[in-house]
Amino acid sequence: MIPLAIPNLTGNETAYVQECLDSTFISSVGPFVQRFERMVAEAAGTTVSVATPSGTTGLHLALTAVGVGWGDLVIIPSFTFIASANAVAHCGAVPWLLDVSAETWTLDPAALQDGLEAETEWRDGVRVHVPTGRRVAAIMPVHVLGHPADMDPIVEISRVFGVPVVADAAAALGADYKDRPIGALGADLSVFSFNGNKTVTTGGGGAVAGDDPELMERVRHLSSTARLGPDYDHDRIGFNYRMTALQAAVGCAQMERLDEFVTRKREIRRTYENALLSLPGLQPFAAPAHGRSAEWFTGVVLEPAVHGEISLVREKLRAMAVDARPFWKPVHLQAPYANAPKRRLDVTQAIWNRILTLPCSTGLTAAEQDRVIAAVRKVLA
Ligand SMILES: *Cc1c(COP(=O)(O)O)cnc(C)c1O
Repeated sequence: MIPLAIPNLTGNETAYVQECLDSTFISSVGPFVQRFERMVAEAAGTTVSVATPSGTTGLHLALTAVGVGWGDLVIIPSFTFIASANAVAHCGAVPWLLDVSAETWTLDPAALQDGLEAETEWRDGVRVHVPTGRRVAAIMPVHVLGHPADMDPIVEISRVFGVPVVADAAAALGADYKDRPIGALGADLSVFSFNGNKTVTTGGGGAVAGDDPELMERVRHLSSTARLGPDYDHDRIGFNYRMTALQAAVGCAQMERLDEFVTRKREIRRTYENALLSLPGLQPFAAPAHGRSAEWFTGVVLEPAVHGEISLVREKLRAMAVDARPFWKPVHLQAPYANAPKRRLDVTQAIWNRILTLPCSTGLTAAEQDRVIAAVRKVLA
């Protein structure tokens, strides 16, 4: 089976993990976590980053740091991985689900503006969602698949309505927007994932990146039990959300190859599109004109009237040893969020069940990609 997305560990991973073990500094102290945090901040275009055990915990930490708490509302696109919503729920808050734009598959600034105008008002200096009476405590655009969200209008709207922005940039390291790196787009904080299937991985891991020294100090403080100095004094309910040096050792080796990996991902997309888009009833993935995606996952969008059920297409491809998959079922269709407030979700509804992801590991060989292409052509002919 040609797998969908597996880690590429052919660089300095083994050497750095061995160095880490030999040093005995395998917890969060020692040089590897700091080195990894510097590398992530540099790639994101921020001054600082704080490494975490996962993207989900990074989002929880970031939302907590900007003040999201019990009973609040956080705006997210419904078209995202459920972890975005879970991080909101872990804060005791509720996601407010908005639509994405058809051109980018990321949070639609017009939907954001319309939602805030139609359903919120100021009450004692707080932006309140009138139908639920909840405070709108954050906006979380998602750089879905590594595609940058349209951040200039989103950040402008966030300022008008007085709500902070935490970007779910889980799979977007290496992307840019209007020639600015993905962490330097005006979000208060941006959160990355280094899960096993992401382009750059630490097995499991994450990072919160930002520029505001005070806010980033709060992130770091909350990530390690909110402890004040060497005595056991703690001024808040903190977390134990620190990445270990063993993960960071892998991450340092991975980050050395970020540019190479992202270049390879973009090449894989181009090769699939050149070979497949001439088939009837196929459309490309979204390609935002305002930036360059990190192209975490690649594939094609199927016209159901031409190709039928996506699950059958997937089964046929799997029978030919190609690990094609459907993509995320949106948040509003997930049982835990069935009652979350939402607005029109036409684009999300129209696309989510038509997306077929294809094998796109950075280690995919040309011969393997040819096999995938031949299998797709055969199944969809
Ligand atoms: C991968 C991903 C996450 C979750 O990250 P984990 O490290 O698996 O917790 C969250 N949001 C999006 C958009 C992702 O792609």
